Amino acid sequence: MRKNIVAGNWKMNNDLKATKKLVKQIRKSIKKTDLKGTRVIVAPTFVNLITAVKGSKKSKLEVAAQNMHQANNGAFTGEVSAEMLKSVGVKTVILGHSERRAYFGETDALLAEKVNTALAHKLEVIFCFGEELADRKAGKEEAVVESQIKNALFHLEANAYKNIVLAYEPVWAIGTGETASPEQAQDMHAFIRKTLADTYGSEIADSISILYGGSVKPANAKEIFGKPDVDGGLIGGASLNANDFHAIVTAF
Ligand code: PEP
Repeated sequence: MRKNIVAGNWKMNNDLKATKKLVKQIRKSIKKTDLKGTRVIVAPTFVNLITAVKGSKKSKLEVAAQNMHQANNGAFTGEVSAEMLKSVGVKTVILGHSERRAYFGETDALLAEKVNTALAHKLEVIFCFGEELADRKAGKEEAVVESQIKNALFHLEANAYKNIVLAYEPVWAIGTGETASPEQAQDMHAFIRKTLADTYGSEIADSISILYGGSVKPANAKEIFGKPDVDGGLIGGASLNANDFHAIVTAF
């Protein structure tokens, strides 16, 4: 079901104490807010997931993981499985973040496997993708995005999409302070929806939430979220500050 979503990707930030504090602050701030159906999600690092899940119990705040391994279990030192995430109460996982792709060599093929595993365990997937600056300068942004989505997701049956959220994150806008203009975001989101519609039909395409990510801040969230095909944001830096995050959550 297409919903507005604001998800905070905390990356490798916030120790146990900071996690407790920020979860508490966000929980409190959304309690007294009319969210108008907007889902609010935070994605702390693995070791703090249990704390965040506990801290968000009986509130509207949801907790996601930032990654998971594609195998169900086994000799994969240092890795975390879908089953483990489920067992601590996590229901959503972010896959394909550009930092995972760039620093940990995650390919479309690997991400297709991760998506399959996550969905098989009934985890919701926030699937990230986006072009690099060189792609955009060469006018190839749509081709890059299309191939990322097709390679990692288009083997799925239509009904899998009820557990998928897409996050378009142009790499050149992540953590750089540079944001895609609302028009650039809208153009790409419309293209993504059309790409989905061409293969799966307009009902699926219209039912999927497509988030924008890349230097979203309180100052620009309203304009970006105001675009018809933008259903919210995946927020990095600004999600580490409760006031900024709340301002973004309420920007619709
Ligand atoms: C992100 O890492 O998903 C992200 C969008 O980061 P930032 O908001 O800091 O650009």
